[in-house]
Amino acid sequence: MAESRSSMRVRVALPLPLGPYDYRVPPGREYAPGDFVGVPLGRRAVTGVVWDDAPDAALDEAKLKDVAARLPVPAMRAPLRKFIAWVAAYTMSPLGNVLRMAMSVPDAFVEPRRMSVVAVSDSAPDPELDEPGVLTPARKRALLEARSGARPAAELARAAGVSGGVVKGLLEKGWLETHEIDPPAPKAPDAGHPRANLSEAQRAAADILAGRVGEGFSVTLLDGVTGSGKTEVYFEAVAAAIAAGKQVLVMLPEIAMGAQWLARFAQRFGAEPAQWHSELGTRERARVWRAVAAGEAPVVVGARSALFLPFDRLGLVVVDEEHEQAFKQEDGTIYHARDMAVVRARFEGCPVVLASATPSLETLANVERGRYACVELPARHGGASLPKVEAVDLRRFPPPRQSFLSEPLRAALREALAAGEQSMLFLNRRGYAPLTLCRACGHRLQCPSCTAWLVEHRLHARLQCHHCGYSAPLPRQCPACTAEDSFVACGPGVERVAEEARALFPDAKIDVMTSDTVTGPAAAEEFVRRMAAREIDILVGTQIVAKGHHFPLLTLVGVVDADLGLSGGDLRAGERTWQLLHQVSGRAGRAERPGRVLLQTHMPEHAVMKALVGGDRARFLAAERADRQRHGWPPYGRLAAIIVAGEDEGLVERLSRRLGATAPNDPGIRVLGPAPAPMAILRGRHRRRLLLKAGREANLQQILDGWLSQTRIPDAVRVQIDIDPYSFM
Ligand code: ADP
Ligand code: ZN
Repeated sequence: MAESRSSMRVRVALPLPLGPYDYRVPPGREYAPGDFVGVPLGRRAVTGVVWDDAPDAALDEAKLKDVAARLPVPAMRAPLRKFIAWVAAYTMSPLGNVLRMAMSVPDAFVEPRRMSVVAVSDSAPDPELDEPGVLTPARKRALLEARSGARPAAELARAAGVSGGVVKGLLEKGWLETHEIDPPAPKAPDAGHPRANLSEAQRAAADILAGRVGEGFSVTLLDGVTGSGKTEVYFEAVAAAIAAGKQVLVMLPEIAMGAQWLARFAQRFGAEPAQWHSELGTRERARVWRAVAAGEAPVVVGARSALFLPFDRLGLVVVDEEHEQAFKQEDGTIYHARDMAVVRARFEGCPVVLASATPSLETLANVERGRYACVELPARHGGASLPKVEAVDLRRFPPPRQSFLSEPLRAALREALAAGEQSMLFLNRRGYAPLTLCRACGHRLQCPSCTAWLVEHRLHARLQCHHCGYSAPLPRQCPACTAEDSFVACGPGVERVAEEARALFPDAKIDVMTSDTVTGPAAAEEFVRRMAAREIDILVGTQIVAKGHHFPLLTLVGVVDADLGLSGGDLRAGERTWQLLHQVSGRAGRAERPGRVLLQTHMPEHAVMKALVGGDRARFLAAERADRQRHGWPPYGRLAAIIVAGEDEGLVERLSRRLGATAPNDPGIRVLGPAPAPMAILRGRHRRRLLLKAGREANLQQILDGWLSQTRIPDAVRVQIDIDPYSFM
């Protein structure tokens, strides 16, 4: 009975915060779950996916509209449908919002445009016969060239050294003709391409990872010190998957920074992988999406959103730098791409490799619980030693007034320059100065729509808000007291550190690397090239320089303000500062010459500094773990944040108080707040936060559902749920 009913109507999920809705199946047609279909929605035509849930048999037939058509793409496979439904339930987002991430390329649903090429026709005269008066020299060249292969008209003209008009003339004569062909597929990575010899330790690790391929779902942490060759090692698992005819997804925290990674991949596999990130053009996105769905792209490297690609036979997922906070998507549907990668792999029945030199406590806890396996690479490749890390106590060696580099760091820079080696100065602050104030009245320049100071960027000669993108020129007059030219910069940003370094070392080549100067893959590649070519002596940069780069001549790393990440009440402040500074330190001395790291700090006795200086990771992590355990913080307890935001402060306040008053009353649950968010106003919206804290086994979604359903949320207020929050701003 059920079957005949479902052959007449289907439930269709839409990539919108609406639905799913039921549609009628026109007589003679049949649709199955996963089919991409065009359906009417009001007056619009939209694309949806036939979903697994049974349609509502009680719904009046007359109210149903017909499915318009099936679209010419492979159906969405069951593991991806299950994954989408799971993510929606976990993040408490509408199904359609998650589905939208899997259908983000409208162009993928129309037949791809074919490519026009020109070729010699049968009626063309033979250009080699040289019959007088038949062919001009240019036409002759074009025909001769065209014989060596069909290609687009412009390309032919270029190759033959003739004008476009010559080719056009030959087409009009009928001596050249146009064909439509499918664009050629990019060269595929080859697992059998010759590769570097692995060391014994690398080989052992690679064998374990490669052995997981084809053996169903598993998660393995590849825990190896910086420079141990983790990439080379997991490439062997990638090779095993390609050889088995499977597809591979590699997730990098910031694909724009992946230039060196791509080059290494191409070296290992003889071709580049497909890429997936926000900077691709729509046509390229459509091409990759379709290739992935058709099972034609063996390897895709991407950022968070690549998780939702329609793989035909996913056989391996790698999450590189798994500890990176960039994997947490903070707006729209809030999710952690590392955690969701594990979920996707579970539905697909394939292994996951999480790689890091500084694994997250979350992942380490999963290793401890026996849920994840762990493979270690304890030494740097090729005998390189780990850098020597020293703390510079800023209380003993204060930099001169209005400067930020202490004497010991200056001396180390001098030495490196004299030895012809490269240095890096790390400060996780973009721009010239984090705060600008009026010398006359003390007025601080603040963003008009956020609780944030404006950051001066001398590079662009503007003030910027790093939270909403507001930007304005530095005013000549103080808006508070009208004093002229009275602004002073307070504190350092990378531009100011570079200025100081230039004054100290006028002959050195100094450059700044931040998300302001490295705006995409091409710029990143150029930077890497310039570092490798020794066109930079001192590189000043933000966290963008900390990630994965390998610069053999870089021997000195100076951390300008090691204490920067430790202020504020974030429960992961210590862990994160340790990870970041350890990664930055790991850039030093990766080849023959030993590396040296100087950490400028006011708190050399702090556990994070001691762990970095002593290289005692185990002790530091054990202390962090014990602390989290004692307080029931993640990964030993669970958190969910509720953020209430709106333009009307009174309304936001009332609603958050009401949520506070109706909070679940259960001994295993604590609710903190409501309290104004540290970022109390963002983009002109007032914000209040509540934090739900529960035991590790608690069903947060169920608790939140029961709690929030008691209160009607007015349209003018937005209530955002952040399960497993990483940002507390
Ligand atoms: P990690 O990711 O662990 O920091 P990488 O994978 O970046 O380390 O490797 C560090 C450097 O050592 C890279 O330049 C890499 O090409 C090189 N390397 C690693 N293993 C080998 C090997 N077996 N043979 C040659 N070079 C290697
Ligand atoms: Zn702002």
